[in-house]
Amino acid sequence: MTTETSAASPAFVELGLAEPILRAIHDAGYTTPTPIQAQAIPQVLAGGDLLAAAQTGTGKTAGFTLPILHHLSTRAAQALKPGRPRCLILVPTRELAAQVEESVKTYGKYLSLTSMVMFGGVNINPQFKALKSRVDILVATPGRLLDHLGQKTVDLSGVEILVLDEADRMLDMGFIRDIKKVLAVLPRQRQNLLFSATFSDEIRTLANGLLHNPKSVEVARRNTTVEVVEQSMHRVPQAHKRDLLAHLIKHHDWQQVLVFTRTKHGANKLAEKLNKDNISAAAIHGNKSQSARTKALASFKDGSVRVLVATDIAARGIDIDQLPQVVNFELPNVPEDYVHRIGRTGRAGATGSALSLVDDEEMGYLRDIEKLIKRSIVRVEIEPGFVPPAKADLMSDERPPRPPQGRGGQRQGQNSRQPQPGGRNAGGRAPQGKSAAGGAKPAASRGAAPNPSSQPRKPRPQAALFSSKPGSRGH
Ligand code: AMP
Repeated sequence: MTTETSAASPAFVELGLAEPILRAIHDAGYTTPTPIQAQAIPQVLAGGDLLAAAQTGTGKTAGFTLPILHHLSTRAAQALKPGRPRCLILVPTRELAAQVEESVKTYGKYLSLTSMVMFGGVNINPQFKALKSRVDILVATPGRLLDHLGQKTVDLSGVEILVLDEADRMLDMGFIRDIKKVLAVLPRQRQNLLFSATFSDEIRTLANGLLHNPKSVEVARRNTTVEVVEQSMHRVPQAHKRDLLAHLIKHHDWQQVLVFTRTKHGANKLAEKLNKDNISAAAIHGNKSQSARTKALASFKDGSVRVLVATDIAARGIDIDQLPQVVNFELPNVPEDYVHRIGRTGRAGATGSALSLVDDEEMGYLRDIEKLIKRSIVRVEIEPGFVPPAKADLMSDERPPRPPQGRGGQRQGQNSRQPQPGGRNAGGRAPQGKSAAGGAKPAASRGAAPNPSSQPRKPRPQAALFSSKPGSRGH
């Protein structure tokens, strides 16, 4: 024991975490707490509520998981019953749910605590079965959790700690009403931790209704990721992008690349093309089954697949250490999505590179993104070694995103009617909707409410939602 503890990093030892947790941290190879961990862990250990501003990639998951494991393993449990968790972690997507629970298992591997992940879009029966056993930590998406509450297969009366992770994303996806319903059945006496990348008025309303005298920690402002990721772009006609990408991957010998496309179909076509060019690639998006997505992600992580092509929703929450290269095959039409995309690289202090392939029709999106990130993205000439395809076969559904009606309508005059130096005429299909919903899949498992983990809902007004202060703490 002593030897193992002495192997633990002094910086983590100083935080006062229990020895089995220190051992697991040591095994994970962490030597220094990230800034969010250094600030959040003592606050959570002290027992109060916490409002934390932290993006994915800052180490926030360990920031709440480590002290939670400490509390649960050192405090006496009351009324332990099957399907009655002591900690509830609510997250917006199934990918994030799976990854957070994986972290719980990693950091808790020397403890006797149990955990479970719960999300929609998959058969509910194995979840019923799992809830017949002891579950200390439940990581769930809100909608499927409500299903279980409705069927009384989960009992939340023993929740000592509640975490809302990526709360801003949950609100963006329209989960506020589901969250409110969950809060209403939690015991009043509990510790609440709210993590969010951004602090909109909606988040503040949520925090005011939920948190009791919270301590605030803030390590990364919204665009900090932007500062550590090297960003560049090539101007290239849409019809040349697939060939250019294949060329770049080979030329730079990129071994692990995450590529974002606007549509699910585009993701499939691109993965096919790369495979044809002997570059191993897999696509993940909302039309793929959960097991196909998990498999693709695992192959990408272990290096057997070199390129993962993803839509925005499917990629959300992807957790890969030090992913070196992100490519935007098309720019997102929601500028914030760009920040989320490039946040897949440059994680936990590592540097990363994000390259965007930009057709003339996307220049309006580029301007919006540059305005948001308050910097310009370096324009890089395509190396002379690239020979564009002789026959640029652009299918009708593979046009670059066009400015949608309403949002960005002012861009119409700026780009869509301009002559196309790339050789392609303007015009084409209307966009297929906000890219944030690009990978969404229709509800599969719920009758009354759509599948929460992949189907964004229309955000509703926040006012009055917390008028009755559901679930506020009693201490
Ligand atoms: P997160 O922001 O929780 O998604 O974490 C981002 C990545 O940072 C994850 O892949 C973690 O494994 C990694 N990570 C978390 N904490 C540390 C740490 N203290 N040192 C090195 N890597 C870390």
